[in-house]
Amino acid sequence: MAELKLIDPCNRYLNYLRISITDRCNLKCIYCVPRDMVPRLPHDDILTYEEILKLVRVGVKLGISKIRVTGGEPLVRKGVYGFLAELSRLNELTDLSLTTNAVALKDNIKKIESAGIKRINISLDTLDPAKFAKITGLDLFDQVWQGIRSALEAGFHPIKINVVALNGVNDDELLDMARLSFDYPFHIRFIEYMPIGQSQMGIGPLLLAPEIKKRISVLGNLLPVRNSANDGPAQRYRFDGAPGEVGFIHALSHHFCDRCNRLRLTAQGQLRPCLLSDHHEDVKGPLRDGCSDDQLAEIFLKAVRHKPSDHNLALENPTRVCGQMNSIGG
Ligand code: SAM
Repeated sequence: MAELKLIDPCNRYLNYLRISITDRCNLKCIYCVPRDMVPRLPHDDILTYEEILKLVRVGVKLGISKIRVTGGEPLVRKGVYGFLAELSRLNELTDLSLTTNAVALKDNIKKIESAGIKRINISLDTLDPAKFAKITGLDLFDQVWQGIRSALEAGFHPIKINVVALNGVNDDELLDMARLSFDYPFHIRFIEYMPIGQSQMGIGPLLLAPEIKKRISVLGNLLPVRNSANDGPAQRYRFDGAPGEVGFIHALSHHFCDRCNRLRLTAQGQLRPCLLSDHHEDVKGPLRDGCSDDQLAEIFLKAVRHKPSDHNLALENPTRVCGQMNSIGG
């Protein structure tokens, strides 16, 4: 197995695994889940931590060196801190990070730190508490902001703030969000809304990265920041004089598939080679049938062989991808 690497038919070397550990979330963001939440997966349908770790141990032998733990909301799953600590013991990992909505961050920041997490991505789509309640279904802006402050005070860096840009929802706050990069060392990342699964949003009109960039440019000179090896597809910039950054994740307006190095493990044990395609390989069945590490490696390789060269979510006629974002993990 040592010689095998996860290289797909387009010669992309896949070394990044995103792991959704639960489909449950303490928020109901309008762009992520339907108002009447789809029934949650029964506990037995979710991979156990032991099963995930078995798969990850095979993955790192195949070259996975970067892992992000996500959800649903990862911090709502019992035992998450012990799981994070197990992951951080894997010497092969050069990057281990967490994506959270920060609702539970303030009370748990020390546990996250002790578990060995160095980087946190936080979702925050508005600075207006009333709008936060409308977007997420809960009046928790202050709690989330305190969570973000606690991560800052604990020295996490960079703290990436993910903002899903939505016409008619938070497009009036693009400047306020971008201004945060002047006041804090945050990396503000504007994400194009992707029509995935059932949610409370229609498909369009979409607010795309070039338009966002144009609008926030009034704040100053946007200087490009060179991406480092561990960077994702964000196009990074810094305003002249700002300690933080702004960035754009433009999955729709500018495909970055040629540089995609990701695989995703869903909460119910599907290995997905592309966020925006419904193809997946089941790992839960084989894991529960007692498969060997070599068999798991073969499943990884099969998923990689099916990685599409390009996602087919077209701007002109976007259709919905079937999987639910809260289960796939974003
Ligand atoms: N609960 C965690 C959080 O809020 O960050 C992790 C899971 S959430 C599914 C991961 C990321 O996906 C968040 O930044 C969220 O804003 C983003 N997301 C969810 N649905 C999306 C959509 N339809 N289009 C673009 N981004 C989306």
